[in-house]
Amino acid sequence: MLRKKHPKKEVELAIQYAENHGWRYKEAGGSAHAWSRLLCPLENREGCSMSIWSTPRDSVNHARQICRRVDSCPHRDK
Ligand SMILES: [Zn+2]
Repeated sequence: MLRKKHPKKEVELAIQYAENHGWRYKEAGGSAHAWSRLLCPLENREGCSMSIWSTPRDSVNHARQICRRVDSCPHRDK
């Protein structure tokens, strides 16, 4: 899927990490602060989701949160 790149390199890498684990990118409509949402491989309402901020105060920490969220998702294949 074609998506825009995140302006922060660390966050972009974390998003790629999530995508490699089957997470999907979803354009954030409405909110000015959220850059996008990521949805876990479980494609229903019980699946995990998280907000990606366009200008996180601490991009390294935000990237770390994203990776942690991916790792703790109980719905991944392996
Ligand atoms: Zn999940």
